[in-house]
Amino acid sequence: MWGTISARDEKKRRRGLSLRFKIAAVFTLFTAALLLGVNTYPIMTSRDMVYATKKTALQSQGSVVSSSLSALEELTADSVSRVMELLDVTPVTRMLVTDGAGRILYDTDRSGSNLGRYALLSGVASALEGNAWFTCAYSYADGAFASRSATPVMAGGTVTGAVYLYDYDTEQGDIIAGLRDNLFNMSLLFAVACFLIIAVLSATMTRRIKRLTAAVEVVRGGDYSYRIPVEGRDELAELSDEFNVLTGRLEDTEEARRRFVSDASHELRTPLAAIRLLSDSITQSGDMDADTMREFAQDIGSEAERLQRITEKLMTLTRLDAGVSNRQRESVDMKDVAERTLHLLQPLAAAQNVTIVTAFGEGCVVSASADDLYQIIFNLAENAVKYNIPGGSVTISLKAAGSKALLTVADTGIGIPEADREHVFDRFYRVDKARSRASGGSGLGLAIVRDAVAANGGEIWVAPRAERGTVFSVAFPLCQTEKEGRT
Ligand code: ADP
Repeated sequence: MWGTISARDEKKRRRGLSLRFKIAAVFTLFTAALLLGVNTYPIMTSRDMVYATKKTALQSQGSVVSSSLSALEELTADSVSRVMELLDVTPVTRMLVTDGAGRILYDTDRSGSNLGRYALLSGVASALEGNAWFTCAYSYADGAFASRSATPVMAGGTVTGAVYLYDYDTEQGDIIAGLRDNLFNMSLLFAVACFLIIAVLSATMTRRIKRLTAAVEVVRGGDYSYRIPVEGRDELAELSDEFNVLTGRLEDTEEARRRFVSDASHELRTPLAAIRLLSDSITQSGDMDADTMREFAQDIGSEAERLQRITEKLMTLTRLDAGVSNRQRESVDMKDVAERTLHLLQPLAAAQNVTIVTAFGEGCVVSASADDLYQIIFNLAENAVKYNIPGGSVTISLKAAGSKALLTVADTGIGIPEADREHVFDRFYRVDKARSRASGGSGLGLAIVRDAVAANGGEIWVAPRAERGTVFSVAFPLCQTEKEGRT
């Protein structure tokens, strides 16, 4: 529709200059600066070298002529011509000799039309004031060096005339022009090659970045199974690799979340359906006797209790998942927590005809949340009683071993088959559903234990007991001060 900007266009507008443009611009500027330097510096240095040579050559030639003329008593056109015939001077483009007033007495320009005229040249004026003078200029247009020098002729301390030399050199000019053309052609080739490389490089780089951005958009849209093909071994390949690992994690988490929600709703639906059925039976049967009604009401009560237990456990798991603990970690003696917990479990053990044996060592002080430790010990010991046999026993021991505090809960119960052992810590996993349900289990106890152990920096593992039953072991790092005290 006219006048509306799509979110994608809006994003593009906000983004400003593209990375590709920036890379290309930086490289182009850099190359241009480099080529400018390459094209100007050698030309400038060569030109300066030619200037210096010209200066030495012209000034020494001027000095030779002026010192020969200084021997003359008076500078006249004839006397100067005679001296010049005797002198073997390297030919220059033009040579003028003037008297003390600046009148031309000698001119290599044989036309002779300038003889007797005043030389209105700044170089001559400077030489007549007694100063040697030199100038040199390179003309790019003509490809030639034009050098001029003027030297005073001195006799008895006074300036009697001036020698003016003019040199127009196209030979050196040609060398400089050739150098300039060669540099320019090479630079042109270099610039074209650079431009092509920059174009290819920036296109490849931005193509890969665009692919990453597109992949992020796909995953953001909810497709966690998307993976980027990893090309090469550079930083972008590393980024793609990390992206794939990240999406893999997201996929696992999403799958776990989905399974958790479906398992949780299933678990909640069962007691709710039972409550519904029982309450319907009460309301629909008009002549129910008081005893049956009380029995139904008791059943409703126990199902509600079960619902409450499940929701409490779900909340505990959610808290552990989020990593927000309203329970502070502190130095806790595990023995105190274990004694308090077992005290509460004694009635259940007595009802099941199970004996609890304890072997608590000293010095098991760990940095943990006392409430989490309580959950861990309670759930493990409760399971050891629940899944035991009448007349069986539960041995709970606690000792400091090396830098760890080790808690073991061993029972003489029904045991866990090997295939189920690695799954018992999964949420809602139950080896024997009927037995777990009958004993009020939800399949969440060991999941809570595992998360609580991890949240407090510990480790947990399960193994079969040698004769019969199961052993759960938990290890926590001992508090620093405790370790020092023992050594
Ligand atoms: P539940 O609430 O069902 O006890 P848990 O997460 O505590 O859930 O335990 C998961 C499953 O592991 C139990 O259903 C049970 O089958 C098995 N289990 C746990 N502890 C023991 C044990 N000490 N002996 C035998 N089986 C056990």
